[in-house]
Amino acid sequence: MTRLTDLGVAAIRDGVRSGDFSARDVASAFIEAAEKARALNAFIVETPDHALAAADSADRARVSGDLRPLSGVPLGIKDLFATRGVQTTAGSRILEGFEPVYESTVSANLFAAGAGMLGKLNMDEFAMGSSNETSGYGPVISPWRRNDGGNAPLAPGGSSGGSAAAVAARIAPGVTGTDTGGSIRQPAAFVGISGIKPTYGRCSRWGIVAFASSLDQAGPMARDVRDCAIMLEAMAGFDRKDSTSLELEVPAWEASLSADLRGKKVGIPKEYRIEGVPAEIDTVWEQGIEWLRDAGAEIVQVSLPHTRYALPTYYIIAPAEASSNLARYDGVRYGKRVQPEQGGLNDMYEATRAAGFGAEVKRRIMIGTYVLSAGFYDAYFNQAQKVRALIARDFEQVWNEVDLILTPTAPSAAFALGEKSADPIAMYLNDVFAVPASLAGLPAMSVPAGLDAQGLPLGLQLVGRALDEQSVLDAGLAIEQRAGFNHRAEAWW
Ligand code: GLN
Repeated sequence: MTRLTDLGVAAIRDGVRSGDFSARDVASAFIEAAEKARALNAFIVETPDHALAAADSADRARVSGDLRPLSGVPLGIKDLFATRGVQTTAGSRILEGFEPVYESTVSANLFAAGAGMLGKLNMDEFAMGSSNETSGYGPVISPWRRNDGGNAPLAPGGSSGGSAAAVAARIAPGVTGTDTGGSIRQPAAFVGISGIKPTYGRCSRWGIVAFASSLDQAGPMARDVRDCAIMLEAMAGFDRKDSTSLELEVPAWEASLSADLRGKKVGIPKEYRIEGVPAEIDTVWEQGIEWLRDAGAEIVQVSLPHTRYALPTYYIIAPAEASSNLARYDGVRYGKRVQPEQGGLNDMYEATRAAGFGAEVKRRIMIGTYVLSAGFYDAYFNQAQKVRALIARDFEQVWNEVDLILTPTAPSAAFALGEKSADPIAMYLNDVFAVPASLAGLPAMSVPAGLDAQGLPLGLQLVGRALDEQSVLDAGLAIEQRAGFNHRAEAWW
């Protein structure tokens, strides 16, 4: 018998609609599963009452005949989204106890579509990280374990690590993530789920704690491509409260899904073959190429010549914007305040920020402040902005030849907690395949493609033209159908 927690977003929506089960039973099942999975540390706060209230209104809506697109679907919300009256920390101690008086547009859209909230998901502090180890609330532990007896706890990826772990552990059918330089795609790949970062501007950033405003985008993470399409439709849309929000209709991505790729051209960029990447990553990439060919796509070798500058460019621009965005956490306006005895205002600022921010956030603020300083602005920030334009132009040119790009999502499978945390450069390298699409603002998705020799998931990334989420989702579906990825982490928690 399938348990309710084995169902994804589409199956829950459809089952509630047809009366196969009640929304309340679904919410209760996930709430109970989340309680049993506390060892994973996926949630910072659980909000069972919110999920149950939404479920009850879904059950009433079924009777009165006004079900909405996500009626009866309980979701996890990354703690970067401001939620009215519910603690929102962005994974940072500096925001401990902060209860926003407003709702982020994306979470408001999801709730308006009928979804409920199971809780706020753990994440790297201010979304800075690739392993969830920078969280001020302790790391999330991946539900996956190696099959070779190595029982060291694994990283779920980051920064949306709580989101990834929650879906993989079946304690939420779908979740929100945010992606500034890979934070939806890399964790999705690490735990064998799907996740899409839409075109920059599709989802409103209003009420999402800002990290690097020119890069931040919200997106869904879920068990499969269809579930991602359903959620993205509810999350996206124009919002006058975000000046970079795109004033466009939200396409009917789910209804248009098609795994038939005849007439599509898919580019394989040679610059993504980099040294030191395990052979299994190449194997899964080759497999992905075959699957897309089988689905009817034509495969074309292409070049994105500035790819190797993407990572250093990202690690100048993102900290620069972060150093500016994080200036607001001064002990006056939000959350924590540390007031040294006999100190003045500046002492309070310093003590608050020293106590409230973790090491990675401080590192980024220092790097960002440095690259924006009068003496180094031209050498670093300005130069990075120019290189960013070249990276975007690489993609512009490649769209003359192909409709999509296929690459691996990350250069490795999940690593152990602690394995890279002492070496920021090693950690940053994990984003190497993810950041180019972020710098160019393009839609990009990760779908699970297979397992490595240790039994850990590997993901493939699809990147599309601006606003062409449909082609990205379609190719994701083509891979999903052929990969037949139905592996799951064995429940040890
Ligand atoms: N891992 C990257 C970083 O640390 C990306 C984070 C993100 O996308 N939020 O900046």
